[in-house]
Amino acid sequence: MRNKVRCLIIGSGPAGYTAAIYASRANLEPVLYEGLQPGGQLTTTTEVENFPGYPEGITGTELMEDLKKQAQRYGTEVYSGRATAVDFSSRPHKVTIDNEHVIEADTVIISTGATAKYLGLPDETKYAGQGVSACATCDGFFYRKKTVAVVGGGDTACEEATYLAGLASKVYMIVRKDHLRASQIMQERVMNNPKIEILFEHNAVGLFGENGVEGVHLVKRMGEPDEEKTDIAIDGFFLAIGHTPNTDIFKDFLELDSVGYIIIDNPTSKTNVEGVFAAGDVADSHYRQAITAAGMGCRAAMDAERYLSERGL
Ligand code: NDP
Repeated sequence: MRNKVRCLIIGSGPAGYTAAIYASRANLEPVLYEGLQPGGQLTTTTEVENFPGYPEGITGTELMEDLKKQAQRYGTEVYSGRATAVDFSSRPHKVTIDNEHVIEADTVIISTGATAKYLGLPDETKYAGQGVSACATCDGFFYRKKTVAVVGGGDTACEEATYLAGLASKVYMIVRKDHLRASQIMQERVMNNPKIEILFEHNAVGLFGENGVEGVHLVKRMGEPDEEKTDIAIDGFFLAIGHTPNTDIFKDFLELDSVGYIIIDNPTSKTNVEGVFAAGDVADSHYRQAITAAGMGCRAAMDAERYLSERGL
């Protein structure tokens, strides 16, 4: 464990490890803290088939193990531990790990990711990896010619439903209100798609199935006198009710957007604080892919390297 580093990377998803690969090859001797979920969101998916370079696909866990090994091979020190506080008010920056250990860092690369929101049903955990997903782009391919449901009525839900309709034979949208929150153009797209059926004023309250998800328990107009319970048969259950960027500890120092994503000075990874860079889903509500996060990690390491060399640090 070191108390003073030139480059501290917080988070161990594709953005963090790619930053680590580039930073270690540039001799920045980076230290990376893995955070609460070592390997990040990809470790919660099964097969990853869209990361370039793996023609046969690879599991999320294996991919993250490979990235970790590649970062360590060039000297990145990887520790388990979570950043619990930061002080970016003076330089060097200070990052507290696990509420006890303070590290001083000339540069900090934040790659703490975002967490998909779930409804909180016990069945979402029970069927994790067996029909429950929070990423249509990642898992939609497994539902070709099958029936799926997407929960949510925002732009993400409409986008995911439209994407899934290109693969599945039928897509239900489960929307709790009597209208969609999505932008007009996205609403029109789902309404005009013959494969998509929108179930307004419906809440999903449970899942059922012997071998993975086979259906969802729904309640129409939940809590109203005319409430109705129905079950529909589905093979896949996709959550699209939003993401929460993991930025709580940075909010006193960094500029965030209204949802909490870190604002960066595109096309760089610079935040509003000198020497602090952000990469991956924590600064990207739009693409949220492993490969785009990895690209952002590369940018952050290059920005950190330039920052250090310009200042002779
Ligand atoms: P939003 O917060 O916009 O929408 C979330 C949706 O999920 C809402 O319909 C909400 O319902 C529903 N929801 C939330 N919690 C629950 C729950 N517990 N049970 C049932 N339904 C629930 O999130 P998005 O991820 O869709 O979008 C985030 C931001 O990103 C937005 O600003 C969006 O415009 C933007 N975006 C833009 C895209 C584009 O332009 N192509 C693509 C994707 C996102 P309710 O309406 O009842 O609150």
